Amino acid sequence: MTTGIYPGSFDPVTYGHLDIIDRASKVVDKLIVGVLTNSTKSPLFSMEERVRMIQDLIRKYGNVEVRAFSGLTVDFAHENGATVIVRGLRAVTDFEYELQLSQTNKVMAPDIDTIFFTTNLQYSYLSSSTVKEIASYHGDIHMFVPEEVEKRIREKFTP
Ligand code: ADP
Repeated sequence: MTTGIYPGSFDPVTYGHLDIIDRASKVVDKLIVGVLTNSTKSPLFSMEERVRMIQDLIRKYGNVEVRAFSGLTVDFAHENGATVIVRGLRAVTDFEYELQLSQTNKVMAPDIDTIFFTTNLQYSYLSSSTVKEIASYHGDIHMFVPEEVEKRIREKFTP
């Protein structure tokens, strides 16, 4: 059985992330979405909020779970018996960072491989930061995130 982890900030989860979850869930037997808590970025949503939003959206999958984690991704992978790290690639700008990250992880944990899913063309431009920026100006974000997530973002930007 192949277990994969999909680590990220997910602040908040977007249709781009959900597309990667959907596709990765068909490639590995079990997928664990890992919500990073010790990011150097200061998140808009707390770890509990980010986990809860993902939990609600992955109920339809029998083989996808979400867990919070802090520390090294390779340690999180080992703790969960995962041999695969799933990441998404949007543009060339993602590539350099992701390549360095995956090679560093490979040196630290030779038993783990990173697999990349190229973005769905429909979501190639989409990032959590863009969504937050648009929402901060009260712009329409319904095409970027599911309704529940949209509602929670709105709450954050409502005085
Ligand atoms: P991180 O802070 O680790 O980059 P993110 O939540 O921003 O966390 O992203 C997690 C992963 O999902 C990364 O591999 C990122 O490239 C990928 N990702 C984010 N948005 C998209 C998208 N629209 N299409 C494909 N992959 C994406």
